[in-house]
Amino acid sequence: MSVTKKISIVLAITLAALLPSLWPNPYYIHLMVVIGIYAILLLGLDIVVGYVGEVSLGHAALFGIGAYTAGVLNFQLGVPFLLAVPASVVVTALFGAILALPALRVSGPYLAMVTLAFGTIIQILINEMTFLTNGPMGLSIRKPVFFGHHITGTDYYYIVLIALVAALFVVQRILKSHLGRAFEALHDSPIASDCMGVSVYGYKVYAFVLSAGIAGLAGSLFTYSEEYISPNTYNFELTILFLLAVIMGGRKTRSGPILGAIIVVMLPNVLSDIELFRKISIGIAVITVVYSAYAVAVGMRTLKQVTLPLLVTIVLAVSGYFMENITDHRLTIFGVMILFVVYYLPNGIMGFLRSIVHRVRPQWIHRHEEILDHGDKHHIWSVPDHPVTARGHLLEARNIVMQFGGLKALNEVNLDIAKGSVHGLIGPNGSGKSTIMNVLTGIYKPTAGEIEFNGKLITGATPSSIAGEGIARTFQNVQLFGEMTAIENVLVGLHHTYRHSLLDVVFHTPRCRKEKLAARVRAASLLKFVGLADLANEEARNLPYGKQRLLEIARALALNPSLLLLDEPAAGLTAPDIKELIVMINKIRGHGITVILIEHHMDVVMSICDKVTVLDFGQKIAEGTPAIVQSDEKVIEAYLGGSAA
Ligand code: ADP
Ligand code: MG
Repeated sequence: MSVTKKISIVLAITLAALLPSLWPNPYYIHLMVVIGIYAILLLGLDIVVGYVGEVSLGHAALFGIGAYTAGVLNFQLGVPFLLAVPASVVVTALFGAILALPALRVSGPYLAMVTLAFGTIIQILINEMTFLTNGPMGLSIRKPVFFGHHITGTDYYYIVLIALVAALFVVQRILKSHLGRAFEALHDSPIASDCMGVSVYGYKVYAFVLSAGIAGLAGSLFTYSEEYISPNTYNFELTILFLLAVIMGGRKTRSGPILGAIIVVMLPNVLSDIELFRKISIGIAVITVVYSAYAVAVGMRTLKQVTLPLLVTIVLAVSGYFMENITDHRLTIFGVMILFVVYYLPNGIMGFLRSIVHRVRPQWIHRHEEILDHGDKHHIWSVPDHPVTARGHLLEARNIVMQFGGLKALNEVNLDIAKGSVHGLIGPNGSGKSTIMNVLTGIYKPTAGEIEFNGKLITGATPSSIAGEGIARTFQNVQLFGEMTAIENVLVGLHHTYRHSLLDVVFHTPRCRKEKLAARVRAASLLKFVGLADLANEEARNLPYGKQRLLEIARALALNPSLLLLDEPAAGLTAPDIKELIVMINKIRGHGITVILIEHHMDVVMSICDKVTVLDFGQKIAEGTPAIVQSDEKVIEAYLGGSAA
């Protein structure tokens, strides 16, 4: 973290701590407490919405569960504040798991529907379980008493401030750790993420449960702030408000949720004071005019793009002077403002501000991380060897059939891969080569047949568990985590080396630091192995196509596989790069890693493969050493087109 960032955080916390003395109005202090509580919830919601990229309409219900856990514990059993709050976190996280485990089997609109149904059910339950919740009458709770001192509104403000700072700290640590990286990776490329052993489903559930726990914390704090809870608070409108706040504030930032909370809590208040509204709307109009003029002048936006936002803000500002009474139009204006932000600032207000800062100071964009180069005296790349002790087969696929509708992409294919060999897989386009890889790595479940790897049946296992068994792959259509740097991509492959727990992450224990450092050293040496050491901090999507392929190999090797599947690795590579690739594959074999190689460049296949299998229309038509295959009549006819003869 930069020094300026640290200073601004300290300043912000100091200012927040001084606010009650600067502005000693109980009404506003209470509003700030609500802002703090919402901000805590939104920090958690952003993990699901911003990082994992799923829409949850169940967060108001989770907030309600937190509120009611604290409320019921306190009201019915007299449990003290300091026990009720952690209990709410745990109970809400459990409910989060109950919701997430079935719900996250689906995604997108289906997930939204399931979470919405959850919200409705929870509200009904709270209403009906009168013996616990007092039903629609609600529960009354008093603020806590510490050592005989009754906590006042201002005291409570400080309690919420401490909770907010703690939540910020914890969420920041989590999102900057290998967990946060896993969340981003599964959003960026679910297939690659699964094939790197980072289970998409598992980490989505993880993110959801974390987010629910944080919602529970917010909910329990809300109970003590309001001193009264009733079921209809935790309704659909609140859920939408939370989502809007995250999106308006800006996803994938810590400041976004705080800003979002300020907006959704303060805006209704601003909209009840016509004078304040006039001032603020003029302010917004002036900012929009100045920004639009600038954006058009430097060619960032076209005149057409800025016309509508200009009109809307100006109309809003002018209409303030024609309205006698703002309360009648509150909801309309609120809606227009929200639509405006969501539509014109898709990355939220913080995202918008960031893009301006980056424009002014482009060097800020680069996330420069120190590359740990341990020099040549160390092992060329720190992947342990897989000594080829026993001869025999590493992988056997028996009678594999893969049917897509009426098409048999694979028809009774048998494949035996000898330990320590480089096994070529060739055939015309559409002959089923990539389909075999997808079957072997669990992306497709074969219609019939079985696969045995290392003496273990893996047919039907999930991609992430197959990756865990030691099968790594690259993709014909490159599947990198585009928004991550090269080294971060490799670090996702090293995810399996991180064994430390959530608590280690939060407290940055020596164990956590040790594993982090070890992973970085390994990632750096893997990048060096594929010749990308200089590009470690470049975003993957900005790399040339050929380099992206090499990066995929480094990432696959990070999994420490015993079998590596390469799907057309030479595609898009220049002639010198292809020579490098051949050397690289030989080195990989030298480490005892078995390789299956799909390739169209016959020189590559012929120079490094021990055995070659030829597919045509989903059927094996030939198999043997490169020399035998090359002179096979059927192969020449189907694939080599007579050129080899
Ligand atoms: P290759 O990699 O040998 O060029 P593929 O394995 O990609 O060929 O494809 C083999 C055949 O299977 C093609 O006809 C392709 O259209 C079909 N196929 C592959 N994946 C799917 C899928 N998910 N759905 C339907 N058809 C598919
Ligand atoms: Mg293919």
